[in-house]
Amino acid sequence: MIPDAVPNLVAGEDRPAADGRWLEKTRPADGAAICRLARSGAADAHAAVAAACRAQPGWAARTPVERGDMVRVITELLRERREEASELVAAETGKPLALARGETGAAIEMGFFMAGEGRRSYGRTTTASMPHRTVFTLRRPVGVAALLISFNTPLPNVAWKAFPSILCGNASVLKPSEHAPLSGWWLARLCLEAGLPPGVLNVVQGLGPEAGTPLVEDPRVDLVSFTGSAGTGRVVAEAAARRLAKTCLELGGKNALVVCDDADLDRAVEWILASAFSNAGQRCASASRIVVFDAVYDALRTRLLAAVDALEPPGPVISEASMERILAAVAHAREEGAVVLRGGERTGERGWHVAPTLIEEIAPDAQLSCEELFGPVAALYRVAGLGAAVELVNASPYGLTAAIHTASVHRAMRFAEQVAAGVVVVNAGTHGSEPHMGFGGVKQSGTGWKEAGVEALDVYSQTQYVNLVVDPALA
Ligand code: NAD
Repeated sequence: MIPDAVPNLVAGEDRPAADGRWLEKTRPADGAAICRLARSGAADAHAAVAAACRAQPGWAARTPVERGDMVRVITELLRERREEASELVAAETGKPLALARGETGAAIEMGFFMAGEGRRSYGRTTTASMPHRTVFTLRRPVGVAALLISFNTPLPNVAWKAFPSILCGNASVLKPSEHAPLSGWWLARLCLEAGLPPGVLNVVQGLGPEAGTPLVEDPRVDLVSFTGSAGTGRVVAEAAARRLAKTCLELGGKNALVVCDDADLDRAVEWILASAFSNAGQRCASASRIVVFDAVYDALRTRLLAAVDALEPPGPVISEASMERILAAVAHAREEGAVVLRGGERTGERGWHVAPTLIEEIAPDAQLSCEELFGPVAALYRVAGLGAAVELVNASPYGLTAAIHTASVHRAMRFAEQVAAGVVVVNAGTHGSEPHMGFGGVKQSGTGWKEAGVEALDVYSQTQYVNLVVDPALA
């Protein structure tokens, strides 16, 4: 089922890189080579943009209802083939099949939500000072979009960008992560099979600086929509800013989960495990800082350690480089005096497995407290009460999500009002957004756009104000 080679998809055709180069893709679960992917360069990126430019006007000429119907047909096909999709995702990321199935389900739900927007993407009407002047808005396509994504949940990552982009009348070039080339290409081919015109969704594989940068710099690309790390986001934003392109960045997090002294501790432990270790901690919304009230710190710590000891292995991280980076960060924290309660080491001989890692006695301004690791690593912090917890939560360059566990609605609401985060959760985990809920962060977590929800339409379309002035004498 996994092809030997994953090519680009340009104007509906599979194409190797123009200069014939390939990269090797390994399976994170055991480190074995599973396929090659096209190592694209500027010529490939430019060819894909050219194909998108040719396809876009025809696609934009379809009504939003027709475009929504197309998204529905694609999604129905994805639902039929969901097992195949999930198996590809499990193979390329190493995550358990059950998790991959859940993600395929999330991509399907996003498809159905966006399909419905074809009949619902409402505009506004407003008043005017001039008589006989009617003012209203139209949603217009942005044009050609470059969609650059992370490896972590590859199918939803494509769905969150490609479905609203298709719905809004754009043509896109998708640049999947070099670590997860299969599912994006597979989904783009599925779109063709469902009847999406060739060129409306193209795929360029390869490394970011070689295949992604030419897309970001191409003056024919009207929208740059990027999901990845803050470091890469900065590079992408600088390149896009030089030509003033519309740019949406969805970046990392150093998300905190706060446990108050009135929390249900068993429930808190359950959500800490899910937030910190599921998908091997490779979620933008993972909880990597567990902030606990002094009064329940020891009790929570005891329960948490027992639960970590009973945890199923969380699956591998995506690459050897990622594993080495995470282990080096934990070793560095240990050298600085942090106590590693559990984990901090590789497990197994093959593949890129990191043991679920819990740390304590670490300073809030230590490197590991501030930098996103994107692995199964969480640190415990002890605080006196809500004020200190909020201060600690906000002492981060990131502001994506934050959670609080408390029985008090007063505390919960105060927390929501005071934390700098795009999403706040009370009595659950730091992740778990749904297709109809806008998602995005503040500070270094993004540029303020929200993806998913009706907010996504603002990213993938532009609002035009139309002023209609009539002359009653001609009526
Ligand atoms: P990354 O920044 O390394 O790569 C993201 C994408 O950018 C990849 O496709 C990569 O090839 C490409 N890229 C790399 N350098 C580039 C360049 N110079 N020009 C253009 N493109 C370039 O991130 P990653 O390791 O794939 O993903 C992990 C990061 O993504 C984490 O920080 C995580 O928090 C974040 N993330 C955020 C969200 C969100 O919605 N906020 C969702 C998922 C992941």
